[in-house]
Amino acid sequence: MSVAHLVNSRIIDTHIHFDDDRFDPDRASIYQSARSQGVCAMVVPATIESRFTKIQHLATQYPGVFPTAGLHPMFCDHHLPAHLDTLAQTLHNCVAIGECGLDKSDQQTDLKQQRFYFGAQLELAKTASKPLIIHARNAVEDVLLMLKTAALSRTSGNGVIHSFNGSLQQAHRLIDLNYRISFGGPITYPGARKLRGLVESLPLEAMMFETDAPDQPGHAQRGMRNEPRWINQVITSAAELKQSTITQVASASNKNAISLFDLPESLLLGS
Ligand SMILES: [Zn+2]
Repeated sequence: MSVAHLVNSRIIDTHIHFDDDRFDPDRASIYQSARSQGVCAMVVPATIESRFTKIQHLATQYPGVFPTAGLHPMFCDHHLPAHLDTLAQTLHNCVAIGECGLDKSDQQTDLKQQRFYFGAQLELAKTASKPLIIHARNAVEDVLLMLKTAALSRTSGNGVIHSFNGSLQQAHRLIDLNYRISFGGPITYPGARKLRGLVESLPLEAMMFETDAPDQPGHAQRGMRNEPRWINQVITSAAELKQSTITQVASASNKNAISLFDLPESLLLGS
């Protein structure tokens, strides 16, 4: 299966940091090349409060860019409780709350702070009925516990665990709580057995695909700045693993994203 097959398909990059400063020098051409490769929409998660305005602005400038607002667990040193108010006030223009969650990697910030901000965003999701974009690095079990306690019940899905790296059993527990599971560039690495096994085993109805650009480049771009157009390679790998067609995988991911984030279906129409 070649990546070229995707050129005529439409695909949503469900997690891309399009506001990242690393895109400042050539954002317009990054956008154009993604569009020409079939990327019809990008969901852009926020990390800290001071980025909210930039993301909102990008959404007015670039058709198909959908903003979110959230306070990322890796940046607790930047967050203030007042930022939760800004977040609440920004939400009417956002398709989700995120990126939020917990991070227990080496670079972790204070876990108590992380739990405070994640808990507050879960509450906000409940009152505003918005889906969550969740980061759960080395912390899937802790995240699961908080999601269980929060007991959200949004009909079209409570959110997505992005760049999932937990176990199959944990993925199923998340799906049972009405969360989607998302995968990106790491599944394109032939040696990523555990991740690739997850994609093989999980149902397409529960999965979405993303780039997380400019981070997490795929195997063919390792060491480089990741770009939204390379979502095609993530989809191609997923199709191989699912022994499915690129079109089937792309449309399943699109369908899940449209329903979860309440995006316009018209995104998938036209050339
Ligand atoms: Zn991210």
